[in-house]
Amino acid sequence: MTVVDPRRAIERVAQSIHRRGLTHGRTGNLAVRDGDRVLLTPTGVSLADVSADELSVVGLDGTHLDGPKPTKEAFLHVAVLRMRPDANAVVHTHSVHSAAVSCLADVDPANPIPPLTAYYGMRVGMLRMLPYFAPGDPAATAAVEEAARATHALLLRNHGPVVAGTDLDAALDAVEELEHTAQLFLLTRGLATAPLTDAQLRALSAPSGRTTP
Ligand SMILES: [Zn+2]
Repeated sequence: MTVVDPRRAIERVAQSIHRRGLTHGRTGNLAVRDGDRVLLTPTGVSLADVSADELSVVGLDGTHLDGPKPTKEAFLHVAVLRMRPDANAVVHTHSVHSAAVSCLADVDPANPIPPLTAYYGMRVGMLRMLPYFAPGDPAATAAVEEAARATHALLLRNHGPVVAGTDLDAALDAVEELEHTAQLFLLTRGLATAPLTDAQLRALSAPSGRTTP
């Protein structure tokens, strides 16, 4: 069995996210559970420049333990990991179509994007949109914890997605699927669409970030 070095995985996935334009500037951050600690991308670093040897280490309560200062959004990642013992990684981006949906006034926070494709059903499943909080505002913690108990896929209002997975690749797959479906949703706004039915969704396997109950 190949043992994946979590530091190398963060570097690889961070650079992949940047290369494919899934977040811009110095936005976006990644976390991987490492025992009772969490490895995180540092503050002020573009995902293009993330290095396996320059990662922040925090406790599950968000305390900075080692390495450079963590992203100011660290509390989002640790809140999700605390609530979801099945998840080992969290990806947060400012992906443009997902962020666009997070700015719409007339979407249901309990179901902001309809299940337009089977892959959305499998990789994202249930999406919850949280109320607006200023970036880095720790007051978001309680809202993140409550939503993360229900689902691995969160959308921060006027901001972007926070998605957990069993590993970093699963979290990234879900973020990409969310971004793709957000684009489809925006392209088809105002047109009659045929989202998957509940029966069609139930026939799909569970989202990759979620273990079956
Ligand atoms: Zn952010």
